[in-house]
Amino acid sequence: MDCIFCKIVDGSIPANKVFENEEVLAFHDINPAAPVHVVVIPKKHIASLNEAEDDDWAIMGEIQRAARKVAEELDIADTGYRIVNNCGKNGGQEVFHIHYHLLGGARLAPLGV
Ligand code: 5GP
Repeated sequence: MDCIFCKIVDGSIPANKVFENEEVLAFHDINPAAPVHVVVIPKKHIASLNEAEDDDWAIMGEIQRAARKVAEELDIADTGYRIVNNCGKNGGQEVFHIHYHLLGGARLAPLGV
């Protein structure tokens, strides 16, 4: 499968990893949109939130747990942060391996169009 995030999981593409366990991987975004911008993914390939199946919801919880842990380790937990999932074309999704953006380190702009 030609998936850039699967290649980061299998190590064939390098990434600056900040967290890893059996199910979840987190790494710094290559094109950061905030002072801290980490991408948190399941190691399992799930194309988007639309494709998540009943067995996948536990992994989604693990992703949030990992995001909080990374926020604590990168020292942005106290000041606050945002976790964002872009789903599909209108959501701005470019990589079709589900991922959550962890953004922080500055006051973020309001959400909107
Ligand atoms: P999306 O727009 O799909 O929600 O976000 C995809 C994110 O993945 C973007 O913020 C983009 O900068 C990041 N990204 C794309 N390719 C790579 C890569 O090869 N390495 C890393 N670290 N981030 C990537």
